[in-house]
Amino acid sequence: MKIRKGDTVLIISGKDRARKGKVLKAFPKERKILVEGINLRKKHQRPKRAGEKGQIIQMPAPIDVSNVKLICPKCGKATRVGYKIVEKKKIRVCKKCGQET
Ligand SMILES: [Zn+2]
Repeated sequence: MKIRKGDTVLIISGKDRARKGKVLKAFPKERKILVEGINLRKKHQRPKRAGEKGQIIQMPAPIDVSNVKLICPKCGKATRVGYKIVEKKKIRVCKKCGQET
C-alpha cells in the first residue's frame, strides 16, 4: 500500500473532502487507513462508575485509501507516489518533485 502510518494525506472524496490529516493507522489488507480528525463517528461511552454519566465521544473510522492523496513532505503538494530502486532498496518517491517521501 502506498500510504503509511505517519503520512499526511489530503482527502479527495466524501464529506471530509479537501481536508488534511495525519495517518494514525494503516490496514493494508483492507486497503483502509485511519486519519486523525477525519470520518469521525459518534460513539456512546458507558459510564465507568455508578453515578457517572455516559458520554458521546468522537472517534475516527477507517476510510478507503483510494479516497486520499499523499501530501509530499518535500514539496508540500498533494501527489501520487511511485517507487524506485536505489541500492537494491525500494523507496517511495513523489511523482511531482521526484524526491524520496
Ligand atoms: Zn514532492
